[in-house]
Amino acid sequence: MDIRKLVRENIRSLAPYSTARDDYQGGELGIFLDANESPYQNGYNRYPDPHQRTLKSIISAKKGVPAANIFIGNGSDEPIDLLYRIFCEPSRDNAISISPSYGMYRVAADINGVELREVSLNADFSLDCEAIFAACDSNSRLLFLCSPNNPTANLLDEMSVEYLISNFGGVVVVDEAYIDFADSCGFAPRLAEFENLVVLQTLSKAWGMAGLRLGLAFGSEYIVELMSRVKYPYNINVVTQHLVGELLQTPIDDKVTQIVEQRKRIESSIASASVVRRVYPSDANFLLIEVDDAPRVYQALIAERIIVRDRSRVALCTNCLRISVGTPEENSRLIEIINAL
Ligand SMILES: *Cc1c(COP(=O)(O)O)cnc(C)c1O
Repeated sequence: MDIRKLVRENIRSLAPYSTARDDYQGGELGIFLDANESPYQNGYNRYPDPHQRTLKSIISAKKGVPAANIFIGNGSDEPIDLLYRIFCEPSRDNAISISPSYGMYRVAADINGVELREVSLNADFSLDCEAIFAACDSNSRLLFLCSPNNPTANLLDEMSVEYLISNFGGVVVVDEAYIDFADSCGFAPRLAEFENLVVLQTLSKAWGMAGLRLGLAFGSEYIVELMSRVKYPYNINVVTQHLVGELLQTPIDDKVTQIVEQRKRIESSIASASVVRRVYPSDANFLLIEVDDAPRVYQALIAERIIVRDRSRVALCTNCLRISVGTPEENSRLIEIINAL
């Protein structure tokens, strides 16, 4: 497969926005009269580094992925949108996703005028590879997989994902927003094996930085270079670049362990509640539960000031609620209320 042939013509020939600072490597001592900024220092008067060099080297060390294979976005939403804009010609090309899965794949497709073909998972939430290939045609450019999947909470079978990457005629995006909670290192360590693989990760979940908006895409140097060309030049602001670099120094292993333990605790504590029909196995920081009457249980929880996500109108999720793992105290309250319903 020649990835270059999959790229939209206008993107292949795009001349990116350039800044004069790319021509100057002398550090902070320069006299910067190139960008019409205010010269008066307040910590924020200069534009951020559009290449995020310092942050990329920190993330590279943490994730074991070379800096040249890292794209940093304003949340995962940005790489998702950029991938459509780079690979899918509006009104011509299409993308494939599993169903049910994360809602942004459809929102970004709709915004970009790209058809999204949703292929149902099997009833046990496993991949139906043959149905995915049956949905593809010669204009299928992107395939979105999500592992562990939101909202079904399960890790997808690694052999099946590998089979899809090896045989799909476009770019396969494996969204690993919840990989830190799973018993797997995911596909980031295997980037070099597949030129058509993009792995998405985020600092919004296990790393606790949802408010800072930072999403990661790992891919070949070529794909990362394309994404960097198409992004807004200053997509990651100075505060985020700096704070993320600092917060990444504090390990999260204890918190991840705690959340996984609490997830197991909730699972076993609500399994026999009278309203609960089923608690699905989870590899993430949330549980998908099937109840007798999802809207009623949802409202009953709201009345107790507990907000969960009603997924009951989503494919394969009739009467299902999605519940994030909270602090031990929050979880105790949740368990108490559910058992009292
Ligand atoms: C939460 C989540 C994300 C993260 O989105 P951000 O924009 O990085 O906050 C990405 N993918 C999935 C499947 C998610 O559930």
